[in-house]
Amino acid sequence: MTAPRPEVDISRVMAELDALAKRSDAPSPAVTRVLYTDTDLAGRALIKELCADAGLSVREDPIGNTFARWDGLEPDLPPVGTGSHIDAIPHSGRYDGTVGVLGALEAIRALKRAGFRPSRPIELVMFTSEEPTRFGIGCLGSRALAGAITASYLASLRDRDGRDFDEIRRAAGFQGELSDVRLPEGAYTAFVELHIEQGPHLERDGIPIGIVTAIAAPAALRVTLTGEGGHAGAVLMRGRKDALCAAAEAVLLVETIASNSGSPDTVGTTGVCRVHPGAINSIPERVTLEIDIRDIDLVRRNCTLDTIRGAIEAMAQRRQIAAHVECLNSDPPASTSVIVVEAIRAACGELGLRSLPMISRAYHDSLFMSRVAPTGMIFIPCKEGISHRPEEYSEPEAIARGIEVLAMTVARLSGTEDHAQGAGDGTR
Ligand SMILES: [Zn+2]
Repeated sequence: MTAPRPEVDISRVMAELDALAKRSDAPSPAVTRVLYTDTDLAGRALIKELCADAGLSVREDPIGNTFARWDGLEPDLPPVGTGSHIDAIPHSGRYDGTVGVLGALEAIRALKRAGFRPSRPIELVMFTSEEPTRFGIGCLGSRALAGAITASYLASLRDRDGRDFDEIRRAAGFQGELSDVRLPEGAYTAFVELHIEQGPHLERDGIPIGIVTAIAAPAALRVTLTGEGGHAGAVLMRGRKDALCAAAEAVLLVETIASNSGSPDTVGTTGVCRVHPGAINSIPERVTLEIDIRDIDLVRRNCTLDTIRGAIEAMAQRRQIAAHVECLNSDPPASTSVIVVEAIRAACGELGLRSLPMISRAYHDSLFMSRVAPTGMIFIPCKEGISHRPEEYSEPEAIARGIEVLAMTVARLSGTEDHAQGAGDGTR
């Protein structure tokens, strides 16, 4: 027996995406939803309400990772997890992450409507802060769940205003011990994340579903360059120690080194530049840069990191500027699980949808969930590959196809229909 084909109510999903996009600190169509702000809490409240309406039991951990469970026929078995994030970087779009949360909810609702009864529970997971906006580190929630960061590391985090993580999360209403966040061994049978591609391939090739086989390895550096400030008029050019001029060289070094790694899979971006004191008539005394480096090959990625670090230090020495280079994170790439990939492929087969194996160059919570459980990702096309911008767009039809595949995949992984043993009575 196979799971009945789920009927996805896409107009409801689009309305819910719209309602979530209205919880934003930027004017429409832009979306800004930063961790633990009132807007983030309003977004979370909406999701929790929708989950409760769907009959799911909702709980939160001490940092706000949120779990909404549909109990199976065997509620003591580890659940099949599915989900993503709803935080949004400043001035971004409405589909990144949110499609994987509201899509997971609709997948569960569609399976319920179709009369499906899972054996293992199916659990929607909404991860805290996939985006690094507030604390400079991405996938905060899934990292902590996977034990990739410790409770003491979490407690040591400060946001840009110098407020500490513990104070902010408690003020946002999340209590309990940080040491309780880590998931126990075997907490999930499998994990699947639905996400927009954030790249152009699926749309360009006219393929509705991407099946992720590997997730690129991200790393991030924070570089603080400290020179000498002074009056922009009174201090002559000779002998200046302008931190922003050094930073400009550093940005170009990142571009050059990443471009010359020998592989198009190496990418380097300086996305943050903070200038102190930041006045037109004042020589920049201190500049902080945040640099993102990724690759699908760990050795080459690390080599790029080392080369950039060395080149920035040498440049700073030449300019007599102090350079402090801090590694914010340096994660290995992840392979997705054959079991989950096969389940997604089988779902595509049953639905008659073409699929493309692909590498995720963006990182996702799945990068860390893959340390906890067999993990896979389903990609859907997005317009021109645009993401992290207000123009981000995925067609309702594309989202509906993704939700159908997700529903069939979690149904398969939840184990009621055991093809291998031919069990067809809804029990195991
Ligand atoms: Zn995302």
